[in-house]
Amino acid sequence: MKLASIPEGIERVLTVSAHPDDSEFYAGGTLAQLADAGAEITLVVCTDGARGGRDLDDIPATRQREQEAAASALGIARIERLGYLDGDLKPTDELRDRLIGLIRQYRPDIIFGHHPQTFFTRYGNRVQMGHSDHRASGTALLDAVYPRSASPNFSPERGAPWFPWSLFLFDCSEPDHRVDISAGFEKKLAALTAHESQQGVAGGLTRAAHHVGTFFGNEEQPAEGFVRLDLRGRR
Ligand SMILES: [Zn+2]
Repeated sequence: MKLASIPEGIERVLTVSAHPDDSEFYAGGTLAQLADAGAEITLVVCTDGARGGRDLDDIPATRQREQEAAASALGIARIERLGYLDGDLKPTDELRDRLIGLIRQYRPDIIFGHHPQTFFTRYGNRVQMGHSDHRASGTALLDAVYPRSASPNFSPERGAPWFPWSLFLFDCSEPDHRVDISAGFEKKLAALTAHESQQGVAGGLTRAAHHVGTFFGNEEQPAEGFVRLDLRGRR
């Protein structure tokens, strides 16, 4: 599959992840390149990430600090934390409604989020297990995007309708769109390195990103893979 560049003319981006390092891990290079090109990026984190480390003391505060450093490495403009308990995320009406509110508030051209059906992904000889929080976040996001955010008949108290141009679903087992992240890879690694408490998880976050990143491209040219859904035609 030929590697793509980031889309041009993108002003606003919303990326919705389950945990404090997911957007960075799956889409950090693409997001960094979009920020460099002038896009204003809002990062939504659904859970507090409290079960994602080894040391159970004060994890949410630590992960919040790390998140801020990682977001700044990528050029992300702001973080919206929804504060659900790590490991217990469900695609509830409440989560969906809060996402509708954020979509209508920030009016993103592109929305990034978890593919809702990923139970596991094979990267060559390595398997990355899926996570129930990721699927819950992806399900709530897709249900928020359509039909709800787009229609004035749903949640009118949460603002004027909005429908994004494209959805880029990361954390997917069969990507149909691979973005060349040569220009954003160093920033992605810096963002992942900022998540210090996660370096011991799953064999090391940055090492895993190297593996995943290079798998989508080749040894010399890292890439990120997405299922790309152009909802209003490609731009
Ligand atoms: Zn996660």
